[in-house]
Amino acid sequence: MNSPTMPTASVTTVSRRSLVTCSVAAALAGAAALSGANAGRSGRVALAAESDGARTYAATEPSMKGDITVFTTIEDGKVTSVSVLDDVDTPVIRDAAIADIPQRIVDQQNVEVDATAGATMTSLAIVSGVSDAIEAAGLSLSDFQKGTDAVETGAKESADDQTYDLVVVGGGMAGMSAAIYAARQDESLKILVLDKEAYVGGSTRVCGGGIWSMGAEVNKIIGQDCSAQDYISFLTEWSAPAQLNTDLLQQIHDISADTFNYLYDWGFPVMANGWSLGNPKAQLACLWSTAGQASDWETGNSGVADFMAVRAGKLGVEVRTNSAATELLVDDGKVTGVRVEDLTSVYRVKAKRVILATGGFTRNADLIEQYAPDYADAFAFTGAGSTGDGITMTLAADLGAQVVGEGMMGLFGISPSLGYYGPYGNTAWHTASP
Ligand SMILES: Cc1cc2nc3c(=O)[nH]c(=O)nc-3n(C[C@H](O)[C@H](O)[C@H](O)COP(=O)(O)OP(=O)(O)OC[C@H]3O[C@@H](n4cnc5c(N)ncnc54)[C@H](O)[C@@H]3O)c2cc1C
Repeated sequence: MNSPTMPTASVTTVSRRSLVTCSVAAALAGAAALSGANAGRSGRVALAAESDGARTYAATEPSMKGDITVFTTIEDGKVTSVSVLDDVDTPVIRDAAIADIPQRIVDQQNVEVDATAGATMTSLAIVSGVSDAIEAAGLSLSDFQKGTDAVETGAKESADDQTYDLVVVGGGMAGMSAAIYAARQDESLKILVLDKEAYVGGSTRVCGGGIWSMGAEVNKIIGQDCSAQDYISFLTEWSAPAQLNTDLLQQIHDISADTFNYLYDWGFPVMANGWSLGNPKAQLACLWSTAGQASDWETGNSGVADFMAVRAGKLGVEVRTNSAATELLVDDGKVTGVRVEDLTSVYRVKAKRVILATGGFTRNADLIEQYAPDYADAFAFTGAGSTGDGITMTLAADLGAQVVGEGMMGLFGISPSLGYYGPYGNTAWHTASP
């Protein structure tokens, strides 16, 4: 029999709107439906080792960028260990799945565990390999199909409240910058960064790493700069026919120098002339971060996010992944902290200050429909955590907050009607209904 067919189309279907909550079981079901029902999984599994009644099976499974091998040890009718040999997938993403999925399968004796957010394909491949092994061992797979979240749902413990000076929700460039800035102002501050993904970085992890630097010290050093007028006209040309918000672009230009000076001052690595896009105006102002080996398009620019995380760690900032803020705590009309949910527990973090830096909302169909309906069919390739939690939590807290400004910025939309507007996507695009 063939190894499981997991066509990209099925994963795209699952991941596009609900990557965070999709279950491996649901994804596998979708894959099976698309590939003509249970294609079976025993074609590429072999007995790799046997000792004292424990049998270890090696299953080769298709993952994101090629085949990975899943080693499953079965003893006394139980899955006692799962390990993974994966030298093809994007390191930090596959590592998140490898650190998460095998343990949950063993703990739950269940192959219907939730996929690790952002690492759906690797999660699927691991589950598939274990399922192969279970069948190859002559066990009934249905005994290991206990339903999504067999153990986790309803089993989260309430943990004690915690107290910090500052809690930052979201470990992308914005959140990390905020945490680092605060820590540099006062190293005695107790600062916590929460990220709901298994890794920090969000969209920052997949971004290209190009940084507009205009009027900054480094522009003087390298003798390259560009005016607001050049910057705006360049983007306008490249983004046509999108309508750009020139006031917003002017503001971006105006804060560029201070922002870049600050980053450069504490060692954010950049190189000049990194990104010309074939346009001399861009070449004048766009620097490329060298933090992430930006030439490596395969792995994205995860180095930017990693650089920020390391920097934050050195300043004593505590960073917690797999930890979602789910609600703002409000006392007497003031935000006093957040409710946090991690893989096993629920707790409250009280803080003097709360910063929400949860990124965009391109992966939240409801918010897209509400704030950018023209993009309902657009494909989002932002980070998996771009679900607009900051907006929904703030509105739910009923503090009188309102969504203001442009409805959409930098969405990078692709749709039959709107097309893909140049390399800048829809930077600062005007929505019909702001
Ligand atoms: C393909 C691509 C290429 C790009 N290239 C460039 C480029 O070259 N130059 C450039 O300047 N910009 C680029 N961008 C844009 C840039 O990446 C984003 O503007 C930037 O990453 C946004 O940072 P952020 O911190 O606001 O959000 P994010 O990076 O999205 O970070 C938000 C974080 O919050 C977390 N989060 C969300 N909800 C919760 C919650 N409830 N609890 C806990 N954590 C939560 C998410 O998991 C995520 O890690 C690119 C974007 C993409 C998609």
